[in-house]
Amino acid sequence: MKQQNFIVGWKPFLEALTGLYLEVDRRVMELSVAHAGRLQCRRGCKGCCVDELTVFGIEAENIRRHHGDLLKDGAPHKKGACAFLDENGLCRIYQNRPYVCRTQGLPLRWIDVLADGTPVEMRDICPLNEGEKSVESLPADLCWSIGPFEERLARLQAGADGERLRRVPLRLLFALHDPWADTFEPF
Ligand code: SF4
Repeated sequence: MKQQNFIVGWKPFLEALTGLYLEVDRRVMELSVAHAGRLQCRRGCKGCCVDELTVFGIEAENIRRHHGDLLKDGAPHKKGACAFLDENGLCRIYQNRPYVCRTQGLPLRWIDVLADGTPVEMRDICPLNEGEKSVESLPADLCWSIGPFEERLARLQAGADGERLRRVPLRLLFALHDPWADTFEPF
């Protein structure tokens, strides 16, 4: 009964999250092909897998539902890197990794607002992927635009969690290993 209640409440949001991940992955694939000569991202590179990552509760719940055994019986990677890395530097939840992990390595663009209110476009990329052509010179549609997917993710989180935008440190999931809890309280 407890498990049933949990599914009824979260299921549509978790399904929507899966759909969002698929869209993200498709766009990431397009950009990865476009930047194939620049990207040095390889299996085993863990430069982006830092220990400080937090995710929305809905993404944490998605990981808990798919990786209950790992969270219950496995051990987190030692501190200093993401808790989900294995001893070979591979992600143990790759299929269900959170949004932030899916776009790593790509040229990024986003809009910042200066103190006087002027919007300014920012660019960034992993130093390993700088390549010969500066990221600032790329057309906007060849960059990952930070904003639209984040907003959709935030709406999913708010819908699933009573309008709260609660976030969870990834490492904390190893301490919260009951994937069938009625509510996702401890963060
Ligand atoms: S969840 Fe996986 S891909 Fe994301 S930071 Fe952790 S180990 Fe890296």
